[in-house]
Amino acid sequence: MDPRNTSRTCPACGHVSGESRTTQAKFECTGCGHTANADQVGALNLAIRAGLVLPDVA
Ligand SMILES: [Zn+2]
Repeated sequence: MDPRNTSRTCPACGHVSGESRTTQAKFECTGCGHTANADQVGALNLAIRAGLVLPDVA
């Protein structure tokens, strides 16, 4: 587990890219186009890694 990647991992498709973090506050996946608040993405990914939430895989 690398907590540095939690805000760079797409909660929708799992794509990891620093470029997905367009600004400090905004997340836009370069893989699937999913957009979200960066803080929410980080929190969601932590929950997923902890096994609390299953990724919503299309
Ligand atoms: Zn994505």
